[in-house]
Amino acid sequence: MECPMCNGKTERKKKLYTYSGVKLGVFDADVCSKCGEVFFTESASDEIDAKAKEMGIWGFEKKSKITYSGNSLMVRIPNAISKFLSLKKGREITIRPEGKKKIVVEIS
Ligand SMILES: [Zn+2]
Repeated sequence: MECPMCNGKTERKKKLYTYSGVKLGVFDADVCSKCGEVFFTESASDEIDAKAKEMGIWGFEKKSKITYSGNSLMVRIPNAISKFLSLKKGREITIRPEGKKKIVVEIS
């Protein structure tokens, strides 16, 4: 296959697929030897979809809004995500910015 990004040559490899930071497994992909872009094959995409659904994390990205409480801003965590992470009120977390457009929340 020819890489649609840079026209380099791709090689069929097994690559790890992660979705929302969850490792879904290793699947067939065409990997460009020039730019490193990874293209999962069509059958791999089907397997990935099935796996994500099986794990209950399909369509996991949720929109949320920043709200205001007292002196601080609050980010609402959608129920599906807090359930998946077993988050409870009072749980200690670490928040750090990653660049200007991303916040990483780590659960202690
Ligand atoms: Zn490429």
